[in-house]
Order: sequence, then structure tokens, then C-alpha cells
Amino acid sequence: MTELTDILRFYKEIGADFVEKRTPDPSSGLREISRRILSCKGCDLYKTKTNYVPGEGSASPEIMFIGEGPGETEDKFGRPFIGKAGQLLEKIIKKMGYSRDTVFIGNIVKCRPPNNRDPQKDEVEACIPFLKDQIRVLKPKVIVCLGRVALNNLLNANHSITKVRGKLFEYMGIPVIPTYHPAFILHKREKDEISRVKWETWRDMETVLAIVTGEDVIEG
Ligand code: URA
Repeated sequence: MTELTDILRFYKEIGADFVEKRTPDPSSGLREISRRILSCKGCDLYKTKTNYVPGEGSASPEIMFIGEGPGETEDKFGRPFIGKAGQLLEKIIKKMGYSRDTVFIGNIVKCRPPNNRDPQKDEVEACIPFLKDQIRVLKPKVIVCLGRVALNNLLNANHSITKVRGKLFEYMGIPVIPTYHPAFILHKREKDEISRVKWETWRDMETVLAIVTGEDVIEG
């Protein structure tokens, strides 16, 4: 098999056009990544998790949402953002004119960190290649980072989410817009605060929609 691949590569390299140009199928690419995730032992989180949570949604989405890592409910069912924060995220997605099936929802780490602590450096380093592979296959028009932990681990940075939400970043050539994590909105108690963070989140999503439709982006 390797021999055949080598021969085909050789013919391709010398420009032989009878070598079939295959268009990669994103669905099978995504399934292959999930298969690898489901047997990963790259860090210790697999020992304490109940289920791996590879992420789910469209294999060719316009928008990809990235959270930090599975919580209790996600760990129990192996699906991302299905707890309370997930229900709020779903509302936001619907208001944007999409559904869980037409976007992709994933996380920085695919196994739940115990007691919902932030994922550690070694855990992120072990897991981020899966996310990179997912981004490569999905080719979203825009990535939304949900919260500080998702943003800083993706960009290897140390931003304050309140300072940079709604601003335009870039990862693997793809625009990235950070916004609040839905759990952050849910933790607010003051009415005015709730309205403010909801309004700011919606402003950020308007920026996301502008990127998708190719409009000039006004950040913040
Ligand atoms: N919070 C996250 O960051 N990810 C999930 O999947 C659920 C909650």
C-alpha cells in the first residue's frame, strides 16, 4: 500500500494528470478525527472522563464555536454544550439564523477536566492538534471563541475577555471573534449587568454575521 502511495506521489510530482485529484470529503475527514479522539490517551483527562466529547455539527459550517472543555452534562452524554450554558448558546445560534446542525460546536479539550477546572497546559498541548485538524477539515468562515479560556488557549495568548470581546483575531488564516462564554452570562445576577453582557454578546454575533456575509467589519 505504501509502495502504491509512493508511486502515485511520484507521478503527481512529475505532473502526470492521470493521477486522480480527489476532493477531500469533510464528513469522512471529521469522522476520522473523531475516531482518533475516541481512543486518545494523550493526557490524564481520559482517566477521569466518562465520555470523550469530540464536537458536533455541520462538516462544512460557516461558523465554528469553540468552548473550553466539556462540563458535567457534556461528559455524561459525550456531546458539547448541552447543559444550561449550551441551551443559551443554542438560543444565540438560532437568533443568528442557524441551528446546532448548521454550525460546528467544539472545545479546546475533548475530555472533562475534573470539577470543571481550567484545562492545564499539558492537556491543551495534547488536545489542540485535534482542534487544528477539525478546523483544517471544516474550513469555517469564522471561529467564535467562547470565553477567555477558549480564546487564550487557541491563540496562546493572555487576553482579558472583557477587553477583547468583539475584536478581530486570526487563527490558521481564519477570522476569530471572541465573545463571553454563555456560562458567564448565566452567572450574572444584576438585571443591568445581564442586559449589558447579553447586548455585548449580540453585538459580537453581529460582527460574526458580517464576516460570514463578507461585509466590512466594525469591531467591538
Ligand atoms: N462549557 C464549555 O466550554 N464547553 C462545553 O461543551 C460545555 C460547557
